[in-house]
Amino acid sequence: MISVYDLTELRSDCDRRGVYGRTLRAFLVAFFKRGEPWAGPMARVPDESRLRIVERLAGPCLKLVARLDSQIDGASKLVFEVAPGRCFETVILRYPSGRTSLCLSSQVGCALRCRFCATGQMKRVEDLTRDQILGQVSAAQQQLAPEGRTVDNVVFMGMGEPFLNEAAVFAAIGVLTDGDAFNLPEPSVLVSTVLLPDVARRFQAEFPRVNVAVSLHSSRQHVRAKLMPIAARHSLDEIKPLLGELASTRRRGVMIEYVVLRGVNDSPEDADHLAEFLGELRCHVNLIPYNPIDGVELEAAPDDAIDAMSDRLRARGLCVTRRRSLGRDIEAACGQLIQRGLPIQGDGGELSSSVT
Ligand code: SF4
Repeated sequence: MISVYDLTELRSDCDRRGVYGRTLRAFLVAFFKRGEPWAGPMARVPDESRLRIVERLAGPCLKLVARLDSQIDGASKLVFEVAPGRCFETVILRYPSGRTSLCLSSQVGCALRCRFCATGQMKRVEDLTRDQILGQVSAAQQQLAPEGRTVDNVVFMGMGEPFLNEAAVFAAIGVLTDGDAFNLPEPSVLVSTVLLPDVARRFQAEFPRVNVAVSLHSSRQHVRAKLMPIAARHSLDEIKPLLGELASTRRRGVMIEYVVLRGVNDSPEDADHLAEFLGELRCHVNLIPYNPIDGVELEAAPDDAIDAMSDRLRARGLCVTRRRSLGRDIEAACGQLIQRGLPIQGDGGELSSSVT
């Protein structure tokens, strides 16, 4: 069987079997762009071609087991099951402007165990496949179609570290930006990463315009290493040159993510140190209010500390925004994605061999 997401194989198979290009395109537009359920696009294919496509084509494989809608903002959380008892989550973010973002997961759980992140508490359970990553987009398109909305941009900010699942994530980005598939402009895709150097270099070579957000959270090595164990392996000195490389090919440079924590990284000195570290880097600092996690002794910085930090960074010439996390009431906000009631079935938190 050919996966509907394997466009190279699908195109050449249709070619071999004499399915007209316009027939295939009508099918792909209905499925990828209009978010029609699987039977709909099939019905658009003329009878004589339908059999030639249908008999070898496999549709989306994800099982949607729950949808939770926020009562306070435009977020919805979709819960998918990959195997009995093993679930992961995707978040739809509806903005008042009419735009819709999708926060994708790339793994079930995560091996990196950043202290401020609920997903890290699950440890790594498994990597998602290309089709499971893209199935999240198809499922969201189907949920959004009755509202007259479509997915305008996707961010890999859900469960998992995308660079620890390189092959599947890179393949998924290829389909997200393929003109015959989801047809998203490259800058409408954003990958959020702790920045694993070797993978980052390959990513830069393959996707120089796909946006990148780097989880920094402190410009002081010892503080960052306490918050993010992976930082002990890849120091700020090691990743700093990469930030410049990534910024050089993107119109708005790179996004710097910074979860603001009381007494940890929220002082005026922290702001000055961060500005010094970033220097002339073309970047955009995104200050993220911390969403508390059960059992973690970290506290959100007070609003006035975040405002003061923002003002201080701006005064040093940096572009700064404060993230408005949607979906707090359904535990869909930044850092809150976790499978409740999951026994720790990860691989003990050891980093995958692809971490260099
Ligand atoms: S913040 Fe990202 S990299 Fe860190 S534990 Fe959470 S999912 Fe993993």
